[in-house]
Amino acid sequence: MRVAVLRERRGGETRVAATPETAKKLIGLGCSVAIETGAGLASGLPDSEYAAAGCEIAQNAGAALSGAGIVLKVRAPLGTGEGEVDELSMIPRGALLIGTLAADKALAGTYATLGIEACSMELLPRITRAQSMDILSSQANLAGYRAVIEAAGAFDRGFPMLMTAAGTISAASVFIMGAGVAGLQAIATARRLGGRVSATDVRPAAKEEIKSLGATFVGYEDEESKAAQTAGGYAKQLSAEFYAKQAEVVAAHIAKQDIVVTTALVQGRRAPTLVTEAMVASMKPGSVIVDIASDAGGNVALTSPGEMIVTGNGVKILGWRNWPGRIAGASSALYARNLLTFLTTFWDKDAKKPLLKEDDDIVKGVTLTRGGAVVHASLVAA
Ligand code: NAD
Repeated sequence: MRVAVLRERRGGETRVAATPETAKKLIGLGCSVAIETGAGLASGLPDSEYAAAGCEIAQNAGAALSGAGIVLKVRAPLGTGEGEVDELSMIPRGALLIGTLAADKALAGTYATLGIEACSMELLPRITRAQSMDILSSQANLAGYRAVIEAAGAFDRGFPMLMTAAGTISAASVFIMGAGVAGLQAIATARRLGGRVSATDVRPAAKEEIKSLGATFVGYEDEESKAAQTAGGYAKQLSAEFYAKQAEVVAAHIAKQDIVVTTALVQGRRAPTLVTEAMVASMKPGSVIVDIASDAGGNVALTSPGEMIVTGNGVKILGWRNWPGRIAGASSALYARNLLTFLTTFWDKDAKKPLLKEDDDIVKGVTLTRGGAVVHASLVAA
């Protein structure tokens, strides 16, 4: 079985879907691995390290894809007219494509027409058995860490209380909005740096998690928020009345913060606006807001996705896209291991290829297309 790993060509993507470590393990399973030249460079992984691990270095996407049975990607392959090469048309019929494909009905239809067996890992069910393959968790964790590190870099004072002969600098007040995977890591990182940390979330379970990390819970709770979590563990979309009450509590708190990190997402929807223009206006000059939700539209009314802006009152808002890509070495290492675990979990040792059982919950969760048809429940539903 030949595994192809392509250089990511979509704008700003710095990660790679296999590392020398995971490639070596794939070779150990009996695969050959072809990596497109330069694929790992932005993650600090030169061709020479892949070659030392036993990979073939392919000079272009076509050479890597030729004869491939498995294609590993971070983002969806480029299609016709999407860029310098049409990667999709070069994927052999019947190949298994694994990545963060973010496919709508039309794209899944294209995969089916091309005979590509597509698995989209962001759709993985959040069950215990799937944790080690969970790309959303591994990438969010690193995004949360990176967000706080960048906030510390952009902040013109320190995080910890600094006692010096020349006097004392007080600790930074840090407020984390959304305490899921990214938010909890942001809390832990801000605490390690010595900040005074508070956090909010709408899911009742999050309150205890915030406290267990040593942060203070700040938020609004009522009957509606008691049922704010879906069976899958995600936050539900709540009523306008709830959001208004939440905003009142948050507004008073934000005015006193030095650093705000926003991570709140509601699955399948635009990120909720949690920080209004008026809240930003209430903050002190030199304060920093980091909006990790910027890829989903942002949690801050003034976020300009892909940019850092400085407001009229001197507040920096970091709205960079692709936060995991800003710590590419670590993100690639974990993403690649997630994909490897998915493959090894379903590996058929005799056939030396994955056997994706249709009735397995993980397989059902991620499979977009099979045998030339779109099969994912969310895409075939009327
Ligand atoms: P997410 O990225 O969808 O959202 C981030 C956070 O934003 C969530 O905690 C959410 O509750 C919060 N949020 C949404 N609206 C908000 C609002 N108006 N105000 C404040 N916060 C708001 O979530 P996630 O990080 O992917 O994690 C969601 C849950 O899934 C967590 O409980 C996590 O522990 C759980 N999880 C389970 C598994 C597993 O069992 N395999 C894996 C990963 C995550």
